[in-house]
Amino acid sequence: MLNSDDTLDTQAALRRANLRRALQLVFSEPGVQTRAGIARATGLTAATASSLVAELIDLDLIVDGEQAASTGGKRATTLTIDASRHLIVVVVIRPSEAALALVALDGTVVESRRISYAPSSRDAVLDEAVARIAAEYAGRLLVVGVQLPGTTDGRRVLESVQLDWTDVALADRLERAIGVPVLLVNDVDAEAIAEAAREDEAAGYRLFVHLGTGIGAAVTLDGELAPGPRDRAGEIGHVQVQFGDDARACRCGRRGCLEAVASMTAMLGDDVDDAMDEAAIAVLAASADERRLVVGARALAGSIRLIAAVLDAREVVIGGPARALGDRFLRLVQSEIDYPAMGTVGVSVRYSAADASISTGVAQVALSRALGVRWSPAQLRPASVAAP
Ligand SMILES: [Zn+2]
Repeated sequence: MLNSDDTLDTQAALRRANLRRALQLVFSEPGVQTRAGIARATGLTAATASSLVAELIDLDLIVDGEQAASTGGKRATTLTIDASRHLIVVVVIRPSEAALALVALDGTVVESRRISYAPSSRDAVLDEAVARIAAEYAGRLLVVGVQLPGTTDGRRVLESVQLDWTDVALADRLERAIGVPVLLVNDVDAEAIAEAAREDEAAGYRLFVHLGTGIGAAVTLDGELAPGPRDRAGEIGHVQVQFGDDARACRCGRRGCLEAVASMTAMLGDDVDDAMDEAAIAVLAASADERRLVVGARALAGSIRLIAAVLDAREVVIGGPARALGDRFLRLVQSEIDYPAMGTVGVSVRYSAADASISTGVAQVALSRALGVRWSPAQLRPASVAAP
């Protein structure tokens, strides 16, 4: 809506840029921001700020809120996010099921549903679920964010081993079913964005490593994803880290891959699967072979150390089911990383937040794409708790 570039008219482009700035100021401080505050922050006149606000209210993006605290003169009316009209559709696709959620502009989940399918019926079941949402919420849908395990350029699924998809034009297909823009996001990228979006201080590079039955990574810079020109950044799972006779066989057919040594399967055995809850994985972790954990932690730490040194990363976050490995594993990884390497600065490693919603990241990407704005960390923390 505010991001369309179908005009070369510079006046209109300037107006759109100012609308986005004003909207971001309300998104950053919903219920606190005022027209006067927008004028001050943008350097625009009070009349221009008021006219921007009027247009944003017309578009059902913001509404007048409560009266602001008195500062001596007339009390100003605050502005807040209009959560009553526009909805972001989030679709999280996994091999045998998908979670769908409708997210309001203030980040709260309005409704969520689950569908399941066999690989052969997946396309048809997905299309039907999306078409049903299109019919039920006609006129209210803004954009669709689809999260999936696999590489994507945002429009096509380039490759997904888990879904057995190669070069699938998924965004085009779903857009025909739902009638609003659809964008595709890799699942590890979405996790990394959700994590970065919760930070008050998102400056600098952060390395996010998803550790489950597979291993993937994502890099964010100042809270935004750094996907790489070929959309393959972070595909570290099948990089060889073990050499010689000790190199373990990997499911990809090669030997010595990071996944073959440091995935949850490599460390805890074949009983692990990504759908297990934290308690079930913790039980497996309690009886895990210490040597396997140490070898896994060492391989992971070695890879993290190199990437963090290249990026001068502020922090490394380990996400996914690995949190169930607990402090014991984290300490092993951190102690390997703390090994002093000349010229490098230490980097701290932690697990991702337990209450981070799976849909927050992809919803944030969709919101940015549609309106050019981001939720404030304070907005996301309580909102994400209720999400699927
Ligand atoms: Zn491999």
